[in-house]
Amino acid sequence: MKPTEDHACTTTGAGLLLVDDDPGAIRVLQRILSAYQRLRFATNGADALRLARETPPDLILLDAEMPEMDGFAVCAALKADPALADIPVIFVTSHLDISFETRALELGAMDFIAKPLSAPRVQLRVRNQLLIKQQTDLLRRQVTTDALTGIDNRRAFDLALPLEWRRAVRGGTCLSLMMIDVDHFKDFNDRYGHPAGDRCLRQVATALQAAVGRPGDMVARYGGEEFAVLLPETAPDAASELAEGIRQAVIDQAIPHDGSPISSVVTVSIGIASAGPVREASGENTPAELLARADTALYDAKQAGRNCARSAPPLCARSAAQ
Ligand code: GH3
Ligand code: MG
Ligand code: MG
Ligand code: MG
Repeated sequence: MKPTEDHACTTTGAGLLLVDDDPGAIRVLQRILSAYQRLRFATNGADALRLARETPPDLILLDAEMPEMDGFAVCAALKADPALADIPVIFVTSHLDISFETRALELGAMDFIAKPLSAPRVQLRVRNQLLIKQQTDLLRRQVTTDALTGIDNRRAFDLALPLEWRRAVRGGTCLSLMMIDVDHFKDFNDRYGHPAGDRCLRQVATALQAAVGRPGDMVARYGGEEFAVLLPETAPDAASELAEGIRQAVIDQAIPHDGSPISSVVTVSIGIASAGPVREASGENTPAELLARADTALYDAKQAGRNCARSAPPLCARSAAQ
C-alpha cells in the first residue's frame, strides 16, 4: 500500500508508549511523533509494563538496551499477557544484526528501527504498524459482532461461556445465564414485514443492553430472535431479579404487536440457569449443561404462557453437597 497523508491522519488518535532508559532518546522520539496526541513514556521495563496494563496502548516503541529489564524481557512479558499480547512492538536499537533481529522476531516483535533515529523512517514505520493494528482490530470486532443489532454475536458468546466458566471455577463464584426469546415473533414478521421485524430485534437488543448494567455482563444475539445474557458472579436470586427488569424493559419499549395473542406490545420469555459456586467440570456440571438448563427453563416459560421468566432448578445445592 502506498503511504498517503490521509492514512497518516487516521492514525494520530492512537495511543503510543515510548520506552527508553535514555530520556534524551525519548525527547527525540516525542518530537518526531508529535503528531500523535496520546503519547506516554517509560524509562524502564517495569514502568512500561505498568503503564501498558493500566491502559493498553496501540503500539509500543521499545528500546532493546536497558539496564535491569531489557527490551527482550519486556517484550516477552507483554506477549505472555493475553490482554497485552496483541499490541505491536517495534524495537529501537543501535545494534541491528541478524541474531538481534531473529531473537526479537521470535519474541513477537513486528519491526525494528535503527538508531540514530531518522524522523521519516520512524514516522512511516509507526504509521504502517498502526494501520495494520487498526485493520486487525476492525476485523476482530466484526467477527464477534452481530451485523443486525451491533451487539456480540453467537461466536463471541461461544468464546465467552467457557472462559467465564473457568473464571467462576477459579474464583468459586456463581455463574448465571439467561436465554431470551421474543414471543410470537413469526406473527410479528407476518403482520409488519421482515424489515420491521429487523428493527424490532434492534430495539430489543438495545433494551437488553440497557437493562444489563455490569461491565462483565454479556448480551449476545444467540440466533434469530433469541438472545443470551451471561452474568458472572451472579447468584440465582439476583439473576431472577434482573430477568424481571429485562422483561419489563422490553415491554417499556412499547413496540406494537397486534398479531400477538398474549399482549398488545412485543414481549419476551426468559429461561434462567445458574451454576455455582462452580466446581471443576465433572461431566454433569459443564457449560453445555448450563446452556441446556437455561433452554429447558425457557421452554417452561413458553409453556407457562410466555412474557415471563422461569429458573432451572439450582445446581448449587447439588454441587455444594458433593
Ligand atoms: P414463540 O413465542 O414460541 O417463540 O413463537 P415465535 O413465532 O417467536 O417462534 P418461531 O420460532 O416460530 O419463529 C421465530 C421467527 O423469528 C421466525 C423467523 O422468521 C424470525 N426471525 C429469525 N431471525 C430473524 C431476523 O433476523 N429478522 C427477522 N425479521 N425475523 C427473524
Ligand atoms: Mg537504552
Ligand atoms: Mg425462537
Ligand atoms: Mg420466539
